[in-house]
Amino acid sequence: ETIEMAQRVALNDAAGSKRTARVRVAVRLRPYMDKQDEKGEGPCVRGLGPQTLDLVNWRNATETLQYQFDVFHGEQTTQQEVFLSSVKSIIPHILNGQNASVFAYGPTGAGKTHTMLGSQEQPGVIPRAVREVFQLVRTQVKDQDEWEFSVGMSYLEIYNEKVLDLLSPSSQDLPIREDKDKNIIIPGLTHTSLSSFSDFHTHFVPASLNRTTASTKLNQRSSRSHAILLIKVVKCQRVPPHRQQTGKLYLVDLAGSEDNRRTGNQGIRLKESGAINLSLFTLSKVVDCLNTGTGGRVPYRDSKLTRLLQDSLGGSAHSVMITNIAPEYKYYFDTFTALNFAAKSKQIVNKPFVRETVMAPTNAAGKRSREEQEAGGSGE
Ligand code: ADP
Ligand code: MG
Repeated sequence: ETIEMAQRVALNDAAGSKRTARVRVAVRLRPYMDKQDEKGEGPCVRGLGPQTLDLVNWRNATETLQYQFDVFHGEQTTQQEVFLSSVKSIIPHILNGQNASVFAYGPTGAGKTHTMLGSQEQPGVIPRAVREVFQLVRTQVKDQDEWEFSVGMSYLEIYNEKVLDLLSPSSQDLPIREDKDKNIIIPGLTHTSLSSFSDFHTHFVPASLNRTTASTKLNQRSSRSHAILLIKVVKCQRVPPHRQQTGKLYLVDLAGSEDNRRTGNQGIRLKESGAINLSLFTLSKVVDCLNTGTGGRVPYRDSKLTRLLQDSLGGSAHSVMITNIAPEYKYYFDTFTALNFAAKSKQIVNKPFVRETVMAPTNAAGKRSREEQEAGGSGE
């Protein structure tokens, strides 16, 4: 089964490399954090290089599964490094009337919110990207006076296939429409003009805090909803013919991918469980479709999230998906599923995962190391 997978992924890569609409896929491994891990199992995944990682093969402890991605961010990677290598280069496009999207994908607890939002001390992709937008606008305005720019934001959530305005919490499910130029629009969605980063901060923080507070009470909801921040940059010519261009940047903290576990690779058993998140499931089909270049219809219309993102994902848009994973054993199957989705290639390597990391010169011969015992006993 795994070999089949490797072949499929290799084929996909060959086809995908010719296309321009690929979604870049980065993987970020968060640090090991399980303090209650009394068994001392250690991590089940480790980085090998800037594009490669290794996962324990649960079926056979003498093998590891080696995956390759566009980018791999190891556990030491800082917020700044993630922004610089995966996000910064797409920002200038939205000042030129193009669209872009950045998503954090992965199981609940693997670091999506840390990556997108971060904290005061370690700001994530969202504050860095918005700062960058204002910085670029300022430089552009200084260098010429033919064009003027205006920046604005919307902030919404998709929960149970309902589109909810987070800047106007009392509003109802909003419709998604397409205009004559194939732009996706949401009539009734609050759009707030922004004059600076601190202006953004003023509007965004209360809305996102609302969501976080609500989510601790309603844990289910926060891991099942998609939080979508839209930054819109409108560029207007001051002189005739007064041309106008609009660029959109979507910054998305996705629902937890663990909801998809039972769908497996084929993901056909959608109707079996109402718990499966339709939008997340469709997003993975859309990304797979864009990256494998199998032709055919990209199923944007099958869910609210993908319909909303249709003009900003694939086509001429610039898209990055940051797949977040956690190293603890309890995430093993969610990690396995997320990596199979994110990987450009995968191969089985005939090398025990753990022994190599732990074989310290001080290990007395004949005494099994703690990790070897684990490796022997960890097959579920
Ligand atoms: P998710 O949003 O995917 O459910 P979180 O972003 O809330 O996950 O992360 C879970 C926990 O792990 C949080 O306490 C978070 O601060 C921490 N965390 C996640 N990624 C990192 C990282 N790269 N470095 C340090 N702590 C992290
Ligand atoms: Mg989160």
